[in-house]
Amino acid sequence: MSHFLNKVLVIGLGLIGGSLAKSLREQRACANVVGFDRDQREMQEGLRLGVIDSMAENLAEEVSSADLVVLAVPVKATEAVLEQIKPFLTPSTILTDVGSTKGNVVEAAERVFGRLPVGFVPGHPIAGSEKSGVAAADSQLFNGYKVILTPLQNSSAEATARVEEMWRFTGAEVLMMDVARHDEVLAATSHLPHILAFSLVDTLAREEENLDIFRYAAGGFRDFTRIAGSDPTMWHDVCLANKEPLLRQLDRFTAGLARLRSAIEQGNGDMMLGTFTRAQAAREHFSRILSDTASSQTMNTSNVIFRAQPGGSVTGTIRVPGDKSISHRSIMLGSLADGITEVSGFLEGEDALATLQAFRDMGVVIEGPNQGKVRIHGVGLNGLQAPPGPIYVGNSGTTIRLLSGLLAAQQFDTELSGDESLSKRPMERVAKPLRLMGAQIESGEGGRPPLKIKGGSDLKAISYEMPMASAQVKSCLMLAGLYADGVTSVTEPAPTRDHTERMLQGFGYAVAQNGSKVSVTSGGTLTATQIDVPADISSATFFLVAAAITPGSDLTLEHVGINPTRVGVLNILKLMGADLELMNEREVGGEPVADIHIRYAPLKGIQVPEDQVPLAIDEFPALFIAACCAEGETVVSGAEELRVKESDRIQVMVDGLKALGADIEGTPDGAIIRGGQLHGGEVFAHGDHRIAMSFSIAALRSSGEIKINDCANVATSFPTFVDLAQEVGLNVNEGDS
Ligand code: NAP
Repeated sequence: MSHFLNKVLVIGLGLIGGSLAKSLREQRACANVVGFDRDQREMQEGLRLGVIDSMAENLAEEVSSADLVVLAVPVKATEAVLEQIKPFLTPSTILTDVGSTKGNVVEAAERVFGRLPVGFVPGHPIAGSEKSGVAAADSQLFNGYKVILTPLQNSSAEATARVEEMWRFTGAEVLMMDVARHDEVLAATSHLPHILAFSLVDTLAREEENLDIFRYAAGGFRDFTRIAGSDPTMWHDVCLANKEPLLRQLDRFTAGLARLRSAIEQGNGDMMLGTFTRAQAAREHFSRILSDTASSQTMNTSNVIFRAQPGGSVTGTIRVPGDKSISHRSIMLGSLADGITEVSGFLEGEDALATLQAFRDMGVVIEGPNQGKVRIHGVGLNGLQAPPGPIYVGNSGTTIRLLSGLLAAQQFDTELSGDESLSKRPMERVAKPLRLMGAQIESGEGGRPPLKIKGGSDLKAISYEMPMASAQVKSCLMLAGLYADGVTSVTEPAPTRDHTERMLQGFGYAVAQNGSKVSVTSGGTLTATQIDVPADISSATFFLVAAAITPGSDLTLEHVGINPTRVGVLNILKLMGADLELMNEREVGGEPVADIHIRYAPLKGIQVPEDQVPLAIDEFPALFIAACCAEGETVVSGAEELRVKESDRIQVMVDGLKALGADIEGTPDGAIIRGGQLHGGEVFAHGDHRIAMSFSIAALRSSGEIKINDCANVATSFPTFVDLAQEVGLNVNEGDS
């Protein structure tokens, strides 16, 4: 059998050294795992337990013949051990260690060697336990955990690769970092919590009634103090070894604790809730990051497939998730209002959560979200505070474009950044008009994120003719207009969504509408309100079409937003002969909502009026399915925007529907579809959530199973889709390929 190396020598056969040796042996990584410990009994125990192949009787001989030497001794013993082995190291020996601090290990090595050997690559496994000694050796200790290597300037690429390879055998994930960064990160994430746990237990133990206290200690105490069971000597050494970074973290923590103390003393509920809600959100975010990395491999490679079986009908009463645009705006305006705004039906998707986090970063106390409920402690139009660092908005274009208008008017500087895909999107369309108002904004290369916004600019109102219809640009300027001296007006070349204008009015802020021109005057205030976010009509569409095409269907969709800029799908379905009625029409936070009752009725093909196209642009994948189930020909034109959505929606729908036997032709700006019988088959959603959901409902009228590939994105945009579909009678299931 070929091994990655012939001989590995582990010096210090304790928990970490023993666990590494045992794992390498079990994996048959090398021909010979030799162990050395200053305690003869530990070595014998290691041999007896099968942790090592052999004991190092003669250290000099073993060092000179080893390919790789691992120091697994306490960090403060590093220098002495290096002195001891130095004479026997050869130019090709690879040397690494496992110490919990790195700066002092490197300093020790510099004292011993002068110029550091090219084979030296310091490391630190981020795994361990409260136990010590070889008897605690566990070959699985590192499996699924991280190991940080801190290669030095001198370290050869070959040595680094070998050390990395060694850790991979244990099942660990290997990361690279520089020494100073390692020590700073570990001071914050490991050393500080250990010090706090030791200190808390010690403080309580010193109290006279300590026995009682411990007797009644609840789970929280046990969870928090588990790590106070760790080895005292090791932690004594760590504190000395990483003194400066640890002191910096302790000072930050002490200052934070003092702030919380004074909040408690003064009964400052907002401040307490602010700390607790931010911490809770950060904790969740952090858990998500951890579970994402654990499962990242499966996530990247798996192809989520939907299988939709033919037949069934669509009945019942459901409420689909909240509207994304309105969820964003409820957080923004709630934060700027005076008083507490209560939001329900909030869409807990990544984009709206990015907006929520941005306002938390600017000092707004926001409770939740908890099952769509959010409580926002508004700070008023002038109450935002400088965020601690750049505001990261992930993939949310709405957040970055709307916030830029708001932030341009603040007294503090900010930076807005996003993920890789957002960083390719154009930002000048908002930056340019904001500059006309006097804002100081710098965009990144090619007018893209990040956006650096200078605070303290006194904005002047402008009257802006948008060169291109965009609800985001309009909203951005309206938000800036709340602060700009005078009347800010925006004129749009074509109607766009008006959620911002409506919600401003829902918060009691006057907005003037004059034809295609909308205006706000600064100097007003927003008053907190209650918002039950309307269900998203785009999400409702899949169920509307499902019921419209399936004999026997009778479905009610509750609390759906029927904003006039979004109801194209209702108008088009009605023109096709759908039996749908709006019930219980009402207004919520300035937005019209209704329950929609729809029953099956035979559909007929139509020429879709072009004036309805922008009002239904996101709904066309589903409407294409409706057209396939209608009698006669449906013609869609003026919809060229469909070609530049998440996918080329015209092409992807044409390809998929043809695979199901439909009579459909794509045109540059739409399609011509003749109704007929669909059969089963395999289609591809190309990662476009709306395409995936549209083909799921097509099965209601197909003669065989439809297998839909690339459906993973449904989980982010409409996580409850499959459950709701099953609830109303569709036979759709999700699986991996
Ligand atoms: P451990 O169980 O106490 O093992 C250390 C071993 O090294 C002991 O057997 C000790 O022998 C031996 N040793 C001490 N000085 C020596 C010397 N001069 N020559 C040869 N052997 C010597 O400690 P550990 O938990 O494995 O920690 C070892 C290293 O791993 C430390 O640098 C620590 O920072 C790092 N680390 C620990 C954890 C953790 O959770 N425990 C996690 C990551 C990294 P004696 O018993 O005779 O002293």
